Amino acid sequence: MRPFDYAAPRTVEEALAQHADGAAYLAGGTSLVDLMKLDVARPHRVVDVNSLPLHGVTTDERGLHLSALERLGDLARHPAVADGHPVLRQALLASASPQLRNMATIGGNLLQRTRCGYFRDTAAACNKREPGSGCAARTGDNRGHAVLGAGPSCVATHPSDPAVALSALDALLELHGADGVREVPLNSFYRLPGETPQTETVLRPGELITRVTVPPLPGADRSVYVKVRDRRSYEFALVSAAVAVDLHDGEVRGVRIALGGVAPRPWRAHAAEQALTGREFTRANALEAAAAAADGAEPLSGNAFKIELVRRTVGHALTRLGGR
Ligand code: SF4
Repeated sequence: MRPFDYAAPRTVEEALAQHADGAAYLAGGTSLVDLMKLDVARPHRVVDVNSLPLHGVTTDERGLHLSALERLGDLARHPAVADGHPVLRQALLASASPQLRNMATIGGNLLQRTRCGYFRDTAAACNKREPGSGCAARTGDNRGHAVLGAGPSCVATHPSDPAVALSALDALLELHGADGVREVPLNSFYRLPGETPQTETVLRPGELITRVTVPPLPGADRSVYVKVRDRRSYEFALVSAAVAVDLHDGEVRGVRIALGGVAPRPWRAHAAEQALTGREFTRANALEAAAAAADGAEPLSGNAFKIELVRRTVGHALTRLGGR
């Protein structure tokens, strides 16, 4: 690990002042410290935000508010999360291991870097780590990589489970920066790789995620997270689906379907949502809609199986919510 300065501010304003070009914020450290040990992340300053007053879960007329330093394990156990948002609770519990969930924060989880093995291997070509160096995954082992939203420069997936649930719940992110506070929909927060895969979000230099808001959403209580992976725990998703259904007299008034493990960001399956909205919530209609969940997918040499897996995962999630 390379030498770095260390700062431990106690307020958001101090943190913003101590952040500078080439610095990194440290929260739970479950991703950043690994990357520093691998020499993939090379911050000259680490700004430890753990003493900032960004803790707590509250509710009001705008919805459920999760402060950015809340640990994943605490959120999964919180009644306000567990009672009204099963999809979020299940996604939190599907993340990492209990030990990691006790360290990782919700703000940091949303900002974790891809698990592409070539990104973590400094001997491999990787446009995300070294812009312009190429993408070893395009011709290498790409079984776990993206089939939606990728581009020639990068085919990596976003690894967060909670981000997928929060996408389906139309969450909002509160961001603090030098220009003040702004709120950005999570579904507009992540960028596709384009020509700059190293820039993954719309965060401005030094900006911090300070809060996540889940607005009141019809159907949030009829929701589920299904994660398909190579082993039952402590593994990233091959495909995941976060689904919330708003039912009225057996008819689907609204449905939200977000996918994980298949794109550089949580991916909303709009074609599948449209295919089910306004229809009776039957198993046949659910499976017909699920067939559209991978529309637009472009497989790589090693991951064509994900297209059918997306359809089956969404179909399974919808039928678990009662599509009979
Ligand atoms: Fe790097 Fe992205 Fe290619 Fe992986 S997929 S090697 S992260 S450029």
